[in-house]
Amino acid sequence: MVATQSGEGTGSTRPLQPPALATFDPPEPDDAMWMQRALEQAYAAAAEDEVPVGAVIVLNGRILAEAHNRTRTWADPTGHAELVAIRRAAERLDQWRLLDATLYVTLEPCAMCAGALVLARVRRVVYAARDPKAGMCGSLGCIVQDPRLNHRLKLTAGVLEHPAGELLRSFFRARR
Ligand SMILES: [Zn+2]
Repeated sequence: MVATQSGEGTGSTRPLQPPALATFDPPEPDDAMWMQRALEQAYAAAAEDEVPVGAVIVLNGRILAEAHNRTRTWADPTGHAELVAIRRAAERLDQWRLLDATLYVTLEPCAMCAGALVLARVRRVVYAARDPKAGMCGSLGCIVQDPRLNHRLKLTAGVLEHPAGELLRSFFRARR
């Protein structure tokens, strides 16, 4: 058996990089404004010595919920900004489906948060900085656009990427 270019056959190694699974849409007019709100949440997290990630959920041009990371203060590994915001938004609507909502977050969602976005039927997710170590919205995989799941989200990345990424870098630099 001869190994082929596609990696079949003996002696082939698994590719380190999966194929691009995500389809990104360009930013919409108000994206930077809402991301600025998410960034303010991230600054609030930094002030509490939390990893500076903030999230805002917007529905019909209004903020439904905003939150920042609480993993340390709550000693809760599920206390990510996105998850806290999703819970608050669902509570506010008294409805587990966040149909037509957009979630803005300063860092690419992880597997847990991407899964929650699918479960909540959020329409669209917009993130600022990529997370090459844990991001599941285009970096390591793309849970929010997996065709096997029963809901897929529209995706936009890179909105206010620089300030969001710089805040994270300076936070971790200070703790080294
Ligand atoms: Zn997360």
